[in-house]
Amino acid sequence: MGIFSKKGLCSICGKEKGKEISDGFVCKDCELRCGMFITKLGDNKSLGRVQDYTKLIEKNKEYLKIQEERKAIFKPNKEIGGIMFVDEEHGLWSWGSGMFKKKPEGPIYHIYEIVSYYIVEDGDVISRGTVNSSHAAGTKIVINHGSSSKQNCSQLDLCINTTLIPVPARMRMIQSTTKTSSLVYRNSHRQLKDAENFLAGVKLQICNEQLKKVKVTVSTKSAEQPKQADDSLAKIKQLKELLDMGAITEEEFNTKKKELLNL
Ligand SMILES: [Zn+2]
Repeated sequence: MGIFSKKGLCSICGKEKGKEISDGFVCKDCELRCGMFITKLGDNKSLGRVQDYTKLIEKNKEYLKIQEERKAIFKPNKEIGGIMFVDEEHGLWSWGSGMFKKKPEGPIYHIYEIVSYYIVEDGDVISRGTVNSSHAAGTKIVINHGSSSKQNCSQLDLCINTTLIPVPARMRMIQSTTKTSSLVYRNSHRQLKDAENFLAGVKLQICNEQLKKVKVTVSTKSAEQPKQADDSLAKIKQLKELLDMGAITEEEFNTKKKELLNL
């Protein structure tokens, strides 16, 4: 391990010399081709297998393709708290960039990819919420409200977990010592409130969509059953006619009837 680890030709591209992993070697290029998905391997990347790396490279390729497609159609028409840019028509969003966050930047997410969010102030989670509960299994965060008496804040982040990538989408609101009495500090919290309200709206939209789906399945089911019952009844009537005509026996009639009634 470390500097003594063996080097050999990359098991994936076969071109470059690479670091030793569980069952082969991986070069720097192939590691980079995994993009953000490399975090799925955890801290000890040398324990990964060749097939893990190959899968992550595929995942990243797919992700880059999705980004290209989204970039081509992304037209934000709404700004949330001056930090999120939303294209309501396509249901897409991205962070704003630069000092004044006036231009969309970074990955383009779909609003339905949002799983949950949390706000961290100087290491304390001061607020959090679930957006899409069907994805949010096992995310438990303890909220530590920052002490209200503190005079400075040196870091304030909004983190959004998505199903798009394995790392949270992070917006740094404050990154240097800022007085909690300052306009910058209060403004940052106002922006975060706007973002939280928006996320609550997305949650509502997802809940409504899910409710609609449930209603559709329920209504198609209840519509099918009476139809089936109607069909069975009509067939039994026909059979009864055949019985009365003497075309079938009493025994044949009873067997068929049982079948149709699922007895
Ligand atoms: Zn390689």
